[in-house]
Amino acid sequence: MSRPRRFGTLALALLLAACGSSPEQGSAPSVSEEDRAYGAEQHPKLLAEFGGAYAGRQSAYVAALGERIATAAGLPGRCTFTLVNSDVVNAFAVPGCFIYVTRGLVAVVRTEAELASVLGHEVGHILGSHAQRQQRRSVWRTLGVLAVSLSGSEAMTRLAGQAAQYFTLRYSRTQEYEADDLGLHYLQQAGYDPYAAAGMLGALQRQERFMAASGGRDAARGIPEWALSHPLTEHRVERALTAARETGLADDALPERKQAYLDAVDGMLYGDDPQQGFVLGRRFAHPVMRIAFEAPPGFALTNSPTAVQLSGPAGLRGEFGGGPMPSGGVEAYAEQLLRQIVGDGPAQVEAAERIPLDGISAVALRASLAGRNGPVPLSIAVYDDGAGGAFHFVIIASPSDPQTAQIADLFRSFTRLSAAEAATLRPRVIETVVAKPGDTATTLSRRVADPHPQALFLLLNDLPANTALTPGTRIKTVRYGAPR
Ligand SMILES: [Zn+2]
Repeated sequence: MSRPRRFGTLALALLLAACGSSPEQGSAPSVSEEDRAYGAEQHPKLLAEFGGAYAGRQSAYVAALGERIATAAGLPGRCTFTLVNSDVVNAFAVPGCFIYVTRGLVAVVRTEAELASVLGHEVGHILGSHAQRQQRRSVWRTLGVLAVSLSGSEAMTRLAGQAAQYFTLRYSRTQEYEADDLGLHYLQQAGYDPYAAAGMLGALQRQERFMAASGGRDAARGIPEWALSHPLTEHRVERALTAARETGLADDALPERKQAYLDAVDGMLYGDDPQQGFVLGRRFAHPVMRIAFEAPPGFALTNSPTAVQLSGPAGLRGEFGGGPMPSGGVEAYAEQLLRQIVGDGPAQVEAAERIPLDGISAVALRASLAGRNGPVPLSIAVYDDGAGGAFHFVIIASPSDPQTAQIADLFRSFTRLSAAEAATLRPRVIETVVAKPGDTATTLSRRVADPHPQALFLLLNDLPANTALTPGTRIKTVRYGAPR
């Protein structure tokens, strides 16, 4: 999350728009005005939930590359491609041809053609109308919070994370194959080596191996990786290779534009954005706001510009955010927040008590919301930031598994960040380096600023350890520094 702002700024309207339109067989591909309007409405909500648009020059690169693919797909000027400021490795598509790719994914591919292949795959999901066929998940159905959701509260709608559905979509194997086939076709039409499609899938497999090698660094992250929404199997790589051969082209007969990709990615932010804070396993630490907290085992964190989203066992949902402190202090803030969440809906405050924290004024409030199937537990915690503002948690839990002890642990874990820890949370960037005589993957990986330097080096470059590098070969490393 970024600097504290008023809660409730992010209005997530109910997604009632009908957006189904199957492409007619044999007709020219199209994106309807209705779908474009729907996507345009979702666009700011998705960005607010998933890290925002990346501000660096790489955004224009992704947009231009996307337009090249859209044109190849017969959709010139009909798609919007956005580089998302998140280090999670993912890409997704929203009806109306709004395509998103994270900077985490941009970092792990090796060439422009591989990146183009990801964008082509997502455009394939659009023209296959795959998203419309998915079951929309609803946390409200899980918890039965019908009465509350009808109150139309912005904060409640945000907690339900409705815009998140496209990020967490699970495509079927058939849909994946169809998107792969369409994507490969667009790749070739755009003048890129169609063999890059298999290379892209290989990059995503390396990412899976890296996650395993780095000890499941992101196990507690709420945002799923690409592999969860686009199931990755060995067979998909084989299929992509077979399809590339069937074009009749030799491998590398068309360009992959590796140098153009390396020029573009050089200086791009890598890992967490210090302005939004760091998700370190279940711990959240913000070096600018100088605060931290730790979620209990089984909880997952998703960082975004407006808030940190929490999810936990039995459909538990919550968020960590902030806002200006009213004159009545933390108690007044908690009541104001409760009113904002339930709107006109009924809610009963069951307990309000001080949270014993060293040097921080804090209050916890437990309330009960009227759900369709009975009361639903809501917990709020508010902390004085000592500078005219406050931080807060809002948690909605399942009545059958309210996680009371875990929520109390979470609320007590809030702490001020030490200067020493804040100093370790610095921005990192991708730096491209040209190998000199004598350089090997092992020696160059020592330059990588990461707890797992060699594993990260292999992930970014797809090079076997200990191999000598041909002098002049350009590779990616990661170092501390400001993005450019
Ligand atoms: Zn897919």
